[in-house]
Amino acid sequence: MRVALRLGSIFGITILVHFSWLLIFALVTFSLVAKFAGQFPQLPQAAHISIGVAASLLFFGSVLFHELAHSWLALRYGYAVRSITLFVFGGVAEIKEEAKQPAAEIWIALIGPLSSYLLALIFGAIWYVTQTSSAVISSMVGWLALVNVGLATFNLLPGLPLDGGRVLRGIVWKVTGNRERATQVAASAGRLFGYFFILQGLFLVFASQNLANGLWLMFIGWFLSNAAEGARVQMETQRAMTGVQARQVMTTDCPVVAAGTSLLEFVESHLLLSGRRCFIVGSFEQPRGLVTLTDVRKVPRHDWANTSVQAVMQPLANLHAVAPTASIEEVLRLMEQYDVAQIAVVEDERVLGLIGREQLLYLIRNRLELAA
Ligand SMILES: [Zn+2]
Repeated sequence: MRVALRLGSIFGITILVHFSWLLIFALVTFSLVAKFAGQFPQLPQAAHISIGVAASLLFFGSVLFHELAHSWLALRYGYAVRSITLFVFGGVAEIKEEAKQPAAEIWIALIGPLSSYLLALIFGAIWYVTQTSSAVISSMVGWLALVNVGLATFNLLPGLPLDGGRVLRGIVWKVTGNRERATQVAASAGRLFGYFFILQGLFLVFASQNLANGLWLMFIGWFLSNAAEGARVQMETQRAMTGVQARQVMTTDCPVVAAGTSLLEFVESHLLLSGRRCFIVGSFEQPRGLVTLTDVRKVPRHDWANTSVQAVMQPLANLHAVAPTASIEEVLRLMEQYDVAQIAVVEDERVLGLIGREQLLYLIRNRLELAA
């Protein structure tokens, strides 16, 4: 979820739009304009376009409303909500921590579909009232009511990563008292739904010759099964890394290079000889920043001799850093969020060490293999 536009913020929650959403927005608007053009041929094209865009925006608002409902309840339960991202399959609210009690898990999941049903009721009521007075508005809100029913019902399918899957996890968790077991059950259910959609899509493509809908279903199925698997892996990773702190896994023998070193010298006497990819510029006590292979590659080779490492380094202020006591989860989350391969461990403006993505992945793999 990195390539996203920032729309603004509500209740202190950042609202982001993933680029894939723009494609869906265009497709939905396009098909709505065509739908209204077919339904109301007597109206001018400008009217078709305005109704299409209005319906599309309200659809977009409906998805946002659903995610805000999840976020609002999560905040009420005391969980921090970082952002809401709208993307090709709808939206996702990034709640900072996992629910600590099954009841919270169940209600935070359930309120999303409930809010969509509520919207469907409101649009349905407007549809009912406007049926005789305005055919155009009635048609638009009628469509919105159906879409919201569809959104709520699809999300209630009891498999992760869907809301219904979270409800299922909450229920199994409540019954068994075991959150991991519950995650496994809900993730397996999510995978099954994914395979079911893929089969259904294959059937549409080959038996019914319905290529577009078939491919779309297969795409949804593939997404669901992948996300379900991701939920299981994430849980196992968390279990493997429980209680491990950043300072325990950081590398402390980071090579230091002087700020004025030229890139040419840096490459020839450090980068090509040490096998490391990341260096501290300045000194451990007074670090100015980090320089990595990636920074060097941004400069054309013929400029290496007259460019200093300081000119291309990531200044300390821009570095994504954690405290020595930070959890590994936090480190992984930062790497994912900012797409960086190195996280600095910093205390009192001193770099204590570095954690690299590859090193961390090896560590998690070792722990998972030993646990299995
Ligand atoms: Zn939801």
